[in-house]
Amino acid sequence: MRIFDPHIHMTSRTTDDYERMAAAGVRAVVEPAFWLGQPRTSPASFADYFDSLIGWEPFRAGQFGVRHHATVALNPKEANDPRCRPVLDLLPRYLEKDTVVAVGEIGYDSMTPQEDEAFAAQLALAVAHDLPALVHTPHRDKARGVERSLAVVAESGIDPGRVVLDHLNEVTVKLVRDTGCWLGFSIYPDTKMSPPRMVELLRAYGPERVLVNSAADWGRSDPLLTRATGEAMLLAGFTDDDVDRVLWRNPVEFYGQSGRLDLTDLDAASAGTFAGNSILRGGD
Ligand SMILES: [Zn+2]
Repeated sequence: MRIFDPHIHMTSRTTDDYERMAAAGVRAVVEPAFWLGQPRTSPASFADYFDSLIGWEPFRAGQFGVRHHATVALNPKEANDPRCRPVLDLLPRYLEKDTVVAVGEIGYDSMTPQEDEAFAAQLALAVAHDLPALVHTPHRDKARGVERSLAVVAESGIDPGRVVLDHLNEVTVKLVRDTGCWLGFSIYPDTKMSPPRMVELLRAYGPERVLVNSAADWGRSDPLLTRATGEAMLLAGFTDDDVDRVLWRNPVEFYGQSGRLDLTDLDAASAGTFAGNSILRGGD
């Protein structure tokens, strides 16, 4: 089983995770820029974070044979902090980088006017830079958040086929499936979407435009739930080809729209150093 996790925050994960993921068949990941839990107080913190998403983290992933791409954005939560707003001016520079394959995560957290503004401005950046967009849907008041997100997406003029609405569930999938946008599902260990529930959704709606991710981060989460979903699909009678479509070809198609997805030479785990440092203690 080859797996592409289209939404995972590897910065928050350990090398043990990379080892387990590689052993489970995860060969490529996209890491969206997100909220780190601790509020950032200046745009410079974001610049360092974005640099690590296109520098250190792909290097670290490469040590385990995992290909790493990123998305960059001012996340919905910190869009509310006036100290972070100037991050919007930093984005154009990062949206030109080779391994940046979308604008994201953007969207709503609490649905404030500040979030409205940052969301619309960043969809405009996606259009201007000819990139797809990854839209986080809020965990509270989800249906209203999705409806409002779809309205902002429609207003932006971006091709819906270049937008994924993520963290959907049985209720919100109904709002998105006829819009032409992609359907993102985050599989969590004990809340929200689980592998069996995901299988039921695939039965009901089919595999077209569906992205399945672990969204693993600094909270309770599990980077192997993509694999568990593939196994649950097989047990439920889906074919190997269905699993390959959902867990590999769909994310390749979605992020491939950036023109920047590089999946060549996937079998070679890289070695060497990054800015003079390896992941080994003691320097070699
Ligand atoms: Zn996320």
